[in-house]
Amino acid sequence: MNRRSFLLLTAASVVAPPVEFIHTIAATPDDRSKAWYAVMRRCGQINYNERDPLDINVEAWGDYWASLKVDAVLLNGGGIVAFYPTQVPYHHRSQFLGTRDLFGEMVAATKRRGMRAVARMDCNYAYDEALKAHPEWFERNADGSPRPHRESPWLFTTCMFSTYFTEQMPAIYREINSRYPVDAFFTNGWPSAGAPGVCYCQSCRELFEKLGGAPPAETDASNPLYRKYYQAHMNRVLEVWRLWDGIAREKNPESVYVGNLGGGLDTVKDVQQIGQTAQWFNADHQGRSGDTPIWLCAQQGRVAQSVMQGRTITNATAAYSNAQPNWRHVSKAPAELRLWLAQSVASGMVPWFHWLGGSPEDSRWREVGRDFFAWLAANEAHFRNRRSVAELAVLYPQRTVAFYSRPDARRPPYRGAPTDYLQGLYYALLEGRFLFDFVHEGNLDLATLRKYRALLVPNAAYLSDGQCQIIRQYVAGGGSLLATFETSRYSEWGDPRSDFQLADVFGAHVNGEMIGPQGNSYARIERKHPVLNGFDNTALLPGAENRVPVRTDSMPLTLSVVPAYPTFPPEMVYPRTPRTSEPAAIFREAGSSRIAFFPGDVDRTCWRSGNTDLSQLLQNAIHWVQGAEAPIASVNGDGVIELFAWETERGYALHLLNYTNPNMTRGYVRRFYPVGPQQVRFRVGGRRITNIQALRSGRSIQFLQEAGTISFETPTVEDYEVLAIV
Ligand SMILES: [Zn+2]
Repeated sequence: MNRRSFLLLTAASVVAPPVEFIHTIAATPDDRSKAWYAVMRRCGQINYNERDPLDINVEAWGDYWASLKVDAVLLNGGGIVAFYPTQVPYHHRSQFLGTRDLFGEMVAATKRRGMRAVARMDCNYAYDEALKAHPEWFERNADGSPRPHRESPWLFTTCMFSTYFTEQMPAIYREINSRYPVDAFFTNGWPSAGAPGVCYCQSCRELFEKLGGAPPAETDASNPLYRKYYQAHMNRVLEVWRLWDGIAREKNPESVYVGNLGGGLDTVKDVQQIGQTAQWFNADHQGRSGDTPIWLCAQQGRVAQSVMQGRTITNATAAYSNAQPNWRHVSKAPAELRLWLAQSVASGMVPWFHWLGGSPEDSRWREVGRDFFAWLAANEAHFRNRRSVAELAVLYPQRTVAFYSRPDARRPPYRGAPTDYLQGLYYALLEGRFLFDFVHEGNLDLATLRKYRALLVPNAAYLSDGQCQIIRQYVAGGGSLLATFETSRYSEWGDPRSDFQLADVFGAHVNGEMIGPQGNSYARIERKHPVLNGFDNTALLPGAENRVPVRTDSMPLTLSVVPAYPTFPPEMVYPRTPRTSEPAAIFREAGSSRIAFFPGDVDRTCWRSGNTDLSQLLQNAIHWVQGAEAPIASVNGDGVIELFAWETERGYALHLLNYTNPNMTRGYVRRFYPVGPQQVRFRVGGRRITNIQALRSGRSIQFLQEAGTISFETPTVEDYEVLAIV
């Protein structure tokens, strides 16, 4: 498009859009008292670039987003580049803006179609003209040099402890707020859930003086200065978040500020503290690359739910091919894109569809988004969740993930990623088709835990005395527990304890230093136990790669440790100590509580090895701690399926994500491999069910209701199915 035709287009843009594009946000009785973003179900983002003011077709974009029936669109306002004629000094106007007000046009086109407009900002970089005028705004290396952007070195990193965050960005927000009817502000890339960086600018040096010195540049929770800096960093994030949220609301109390988070399982910043401040959590978890499992998106949803507890979570999904390497301007494989969007929805997040560049030369992604979003909109009532239906809680051990194995990850012995423990347990939960929620350790309290039959703890090595006490009380009150490896061995900052803080609950005490990593160790079956059902014709099971030697208070031995012995050469491969009295697992019952404790890292070893016995052992242990009563829901049939169940405004929704695919653990998904009918049992109590619809296949489902339980068979699941039970 040349400049003349775009001016013509702009002139034509005052005409109202066709009626079919007008989409208003549906209000249900539950929603009227809630802010717009609290009831939002779909959103989109066109992330335009500095050159786009020359060519972008504003009305075509408005029509596209309206055709997806999104509630809100994110539009680039400013920060690094202003897409409107800003008057704020050092707020760099797009060099291609001319006399245009692209942001204003985009906001108007969005609002005319009945959608909310969110100003998408970037607070992380500014131009060298700002660096010269305000050197104090910028991050510095220890030698005082500024930090240029890696790929665009004419931009420099701003420091969040500087007045750039408390004066310059607020000036920009206020200018936008005064000129445009925006409904929210969003900052790209900040604060993130990753490790706090360390800067040496004047503001930061003043902070270090108060803390008693400069913190180490790398994450190191054993360092007292790092501990102080970590909380100071968190405090600044929360202070800035609150400041910006207040500014967003100055014109309209219904407005809101939302920062950018994500990281999936792997977070270092305390997302629970952020979740207490945030009204809206955006997970910037846009896709996967290489040898990563497809379910990372669902995991992101679970982490975010554990801190937002029902409040709005969005998940940005790249329609472009974001991987390593990254292609910003071609579409992601449609099947991969669809399954990522499906996971966002299944896990209770609001899908946020994201394209980069105002004048795409690849349009393949458009149809994928339109199909999926139109289907969502047509069935919206079934995606309005009230609460998750699950009887198992998985502790999300934030500080263990953040601090525990990071220092060791660079030094032998390599212990792997800090999330390997949780991934291993997750895989067993997935394979066993359990329904479960994540509970963030910062939200551990008895009222929360009592909703669940059992708490599963994948190596929460770093736990406070208070957190341990809650777990102890939960078990004393009849709750069941599964825990692994070094759970409760250290304080919340990693100070070692002489014994597990939960030794009394586990029925096991530390009896020596951790051993490992060592392959070729075993667990010997010493007696029959429900957890060992199915392990016939073997006396040995694979052992954990790392273990804490333990002793018990005269518990019968069920699984004993066979210590590691050489794997090479074959002549040397025989056990030097074939039998010990050291427990490889402890299964005990106290009142109605069942406690399973594995002193080895069976979860992590399961994940890293892919060993089927270890997954089965974990699944058996989960079944055992869950208790004899039938689970609230069961879905039996072939395939690898992740389950989510929600109580919705209409009834219930049971979500089935079909991961049965050769690309399950290595992207991208090329096509789907449908799984056959699944037998479902779902406990609905006294509720009378009148109708079950399979929303993806559009079929009515025959069902039987007896004794508070419905049973039915689902049709084939291609990529995703949602059973709407009303
Ligand atoms: Zn600084």
